[in-house]
Amino acid sequence: MPENLKNKKQQALELLKIHYGFSSFRPGQERAIDNVLNGKSTVVVMPTGGGKSLCYQLPALVLDGVTVVVSPLIALMKDQVDSLEQAGIPATFVNSSITPAETNDRLEKVKNGFFKLLYIAPERFYNREFMEALARVKVSLFAVDEAHCISAWGHDFRPSYLKLRDAIKYLGNPTTLALTATATPEVRDDIVKQLNLKDPKMVVTGFSRPNLQFGAIRATDARKPQFVLDAISAVPDEAGVIYVGTRTRVDELLRILLENDIEAVSYHAGMDSADRKWVQDNFMSGKAKVIVATNAFGLGIDKQDIRFVIHYDMPGTIEAYYQEAGRAGRDGKPSFCLLLSSPRDRYLREFFIKGDNPPPDMVLEIYEILANYHFGDARGKDPDTVLITYSELKGMLSEDAPEMAVGTAVKILEREGYIARSREKNGNAYLKLASDFETAVNSLGRRAKTQREVLAKLYDRFKDDLADGRDVNIEEVSGILDVKKESLMRLIRKLSDSGHVEYRPPFKGTEIKILKRMEKRKVSIDFSAMREKLKRAYDKLDMMENYVYHLGCRQKYILDYFKDSEAKPCGKCDNCLAGGGYNKKTPRPAPKEYL
Ligand code: ADP
Ligand code: MG
Repeated sequence: MPENLKNKKQQALELLKIHYGFSSFRPGQERAIDNVLNGKSTVVVMPTGGGKSLCYQLPALVLDGVTVVVSPLIALMKDQVDSLEQAGIPATFVNSSITPAETNDRLEKVKNGFFKLLYIAPERFYNREFMEALARVKVSLFAVDEAHCISAWGHDFRPSYLKLRDAIKYLGNPTTLALTATATPEVRDDIVKQLNLKDPKMVVTGFSRPNLQFGAIRATDARKPQFVLDAISAVPDEAGVIYVGTRTRVDELLRILLENDIEAVSYHAGMDSADRKWVQDNFMSGKAKVIVATNAFGLGIDKQDIRFVIHYDMPGTIEAYYQEAGRAGRDGKPSFCLLLSSPRDRYLREFFIKGDNPPPDMVLEIYEILANYHFGDARGKDPDTVLITYSELKGMLSEDAPEMAVGTAVKILEREGYIARSREKNGNAYLKLASDFETAVNSLGRRAKTQREVLAKLYDRFKDDLADGRDVNIEEVSGILDVKKESLMRLIRKLSDSGHVEYRPPFKGTEIKILKRMEKRKVSIDFSAMREKLKRAYDKLDMMENYVYHLGCRQKYILDYFKDSEAKPCGKCDNCLAGGGYNKKTPRPAPKEYL
């Protein structure tokens, strides 16, 4: 190590004690700081709470010039700066809450070396004057916090982050440090690409969960319930989550558990929000111990004492699996994560992948259908508006496709600006009298007294409209006429069957507006990105499936997947307990043996 770097490093260690009162670095911090002091751009991936801030705050003190910190968390900037000031670290921030005059003043002070750290909201980089002022300052380190915001693959994409690449260039390519807690490899690759980092160093660390015991069992669907019952009986009275692939299977498993006197509740997105809240509250408070759920359950659930997470079906990616399984044992106490997998699981996953990734031809065909939809239909009064359900669309396709893929195709066309969808649904039915009143009444027959009355009321009230045909809300009309909704519907159905009225039930679909009308071959959508996404989805599924068949340490397999450099065999997963590998002759330990 060169002498001056050694000094800087020594300085950093001292400052760690002086300003923060910490005696040593956490895993990864030291390497990240070394890189930065060496002038090497670096991507740091550490879980939340891992200590990412220190990786730029400490170098900021050692390096001359200023460290710019980009963060989307505007509401937190003031607090962060205040606590830095309290630790004796001169820092300031600039965001939309600061007046232009104050902004200039702060930048002037930065220029004069008054502050070591400057926190900035990404939107600032849209402002030319600000950029020019910043370019006059010596920026020795450019830190991008929450760097996953730059990736459209991620869960928190912020378009303003795309400005950062140009900003870095404009500032003369200072050493750049990107930090995130998102462990997804593709998001990480995207950060490097979007920030245009050349040969960056990677520091990925701290994703291991030493208190979690992983295990996987290959089991046919018929045998899965018994494994669940065994696992639960190993930890009776403890809280646990069982993730199931589909809503129907949630119900099936719930029934089995209840039959076996396990007080379980269920959760999926198809339940109404009051039910979901009730279930969630009961689980959080510990009244319900076991929850059977789809992956709709979990985000924002902060229950510390979940002792087990069982996957009843194989998830589609290691990311999803580790995120869901990682909900066990937040309190650091021993907990287990069991994955049950049957060969059939792969088909379910492939079905989802296909639904998520419609082929380009199908997207174009759907555009063509929508653009040429025949108008003058009572449902579509505006020529650019199409009212259609996904299942109708599916029926018009030249090749059969899952309805989910139709929905995705419509979303793609919307994202690309060819169409727009409105959320409202048109809840009205359409009704038109096809013959004159007398004929219609007579068709009902003499004995249908109530029906004749209802029709008379209807005619009295709406006669002109009915002759032309109109949208009707059945609830409303039955209220106005003071007749039962069922009687009204019975009448309408009868007249409709005999051809005396024209009736179309309420539309339950999407209203689609055509924004760009053109020939199909002129539609220009970047399908290469979509093909790439599809390929990645299959690669990820393979990696997930390999996990099931893996013979080495499971925790290490997952950490290697995330490229966590600290990965070591855990010593407690089913494979580690079996001596790091076994074949068909030495059977896998049953859950009871390793739970
Ligand atoms: P992240 O941004 O990765 O979520 P923070 O930078 O906010 O995490 O740090 C989380 C906590 O860890 C803070 O309270 C911080 O003071 C503490 N911390 C960071 N580094 C160290 C260290 N080397 N020793 C002890 N505590 C640390
Ligand atoms: Mg942070």
